[in-house]
Amino acid sequence: MWTYYPDLLATPVPRYTSYPTAAEFAGIDNALYRDALRTAHGEISLYVHIPFCEEICFYCGCNTSRANRRQRLESYLAALHAEIASVARELPADIRVGRVAFGGGSPNAISPDEFRMLYAGLEQHFSLNDPVLSIELDPRTMTEEWAQTVGALGITRASLGVQTFAGHCQQAIGRVQSENCIVQSVDWLRDAGVTSLNFDLMYGLPGQSLHDLEDSLQRTRVLGADRIALFGYAHVPHIVPRQRVIDDSDLPGQRQRFAMAELGYAYLATHGYAPVGFDHFARPGKDPLAKAAFEGTLRRNFQGFTEDQSDILIGLGASAISNFPQLLAQNEKNSGRYRMLASQNHLTASRGVVRSADDRYRGAVIEQLLCRGRAQLGACLMREVSERLKPFIERGLASVDRQWLAILPEGLPYARSIAALFDAYRAPSMQQFSSAV
Ligand code: SF4
Repeated sequence: MWTYYPDLLATPVPRYTSYPTAAEFAGIDNALYRDALRTAHGEISLYVHIPFCEEICFYCGCNTSRANRRQRLESYLAALHAEIASVARELPADIRVGRVAFGGGSPNAISPDEFRMLYAGLEQHFSLNDPVLSIELDPRTMTEEWAQTVGALGITRASLGVQTFAGHCQQAIGRVQSENCIVQSVDWLRDAGVTSLNFDLMYGLPGQSLHDLEDSLQRTRVLGADRIALFGYAHVPHIVPRQRVIDDSDLPGQRQRFAMAELGYAYLATHGYAPVGFDHFARPGKDPLAKAAFEGTLRRNFQGFTEDQSDILIGLGASAISNFPQLLAQNEKNSGRYRMLASQNHLTASRGVVRSADDRYRGAVIEQLLCRGRAQLGACLMREVSERLKPFIERGLASVDRQWLAILPEGLPYARSIAALFDAYRAPSMQQFSSAV
């Protein structure tokens, strides 16, 4: 049973899929990105961004646009092929790729043929080392041919954007999808050999009740999801203008959101799922994410919680972010500028941040707190946060034993708020971030 402390959740906090966060990104010299590629070593991971969707959902904060303009889509894919070649050219010859994730947008907004060609481009330019392949899919546009393509390429991990099964919530967020189309997608993907199937679900949606949430969790479980990501909807219309369509007065308040997060945790933890970090759940003994959480090897990157151990993730496509130990670099967000740069065989990273030694140290502490629930602190950092930690310790949400800070089970909903104590960049106003629950 969690206790609601509104004062500890009053400040919006980042999700910390990186540290420094994307809010700290500024213009960078492209040469920094080139140097990071040239000095890469070990096994790396790739993320390929396909920023198109058949229909745009009102709530979506992703960099994506409608797939109905063929010419734009085709010129984007041509630019992506060119970028793949440009990036691969800069990497040392012995670099191997252990993982490729396709996300967006919705990768299945392009045709299976276009996707096969994209994969062939990756095979041509990178040394793919029997990679773990994963893909995000929109059930609304899933087809049998797409599922067969997933199977033929050996993609074993898929994530379905579901969010909610409640029809009135689907209407309110502009994402209407029948249960049939979700069931059909699951069947096709299982037949195609997908062994790890994730459902993205949301709480805090307009008009959503606790009953709606529990019903969606139950349906997800019955459909056999191996993983569930349960995110709180972040309503930030001043940053994501398309969210203005959503009526603020229909949104659950923070007290209700807290109850929803608690319900989600309690339901999944008692129905066959192991909690992974603060918003993921996976079937123990079966799914690699649950195994990583159990063994203490869980990591966090731009895709959220992951068992990927590589320190280098290269993002390909407009707005995609690359992560190197010493640098975070984001590709040009503007699709037109991205296409122009990539098609001229230029690297397209335009923003980012050089990670100082202090950034890396604090980033490691934040990652350990969020992934493992504990972190070892140096004396300076301990002194720096001790006053601000007190409210969490006094309420039994965290504990300190010599140099070790631990988030206690009751402190899980406050994990991001505790991690934020170590964030040297957080100014008094953090309105661009989401509620901590
Ligand atoms: S399908 Fe996904 S990426 Fe596309 S608009 Fe909807 S939420 Fe955003």
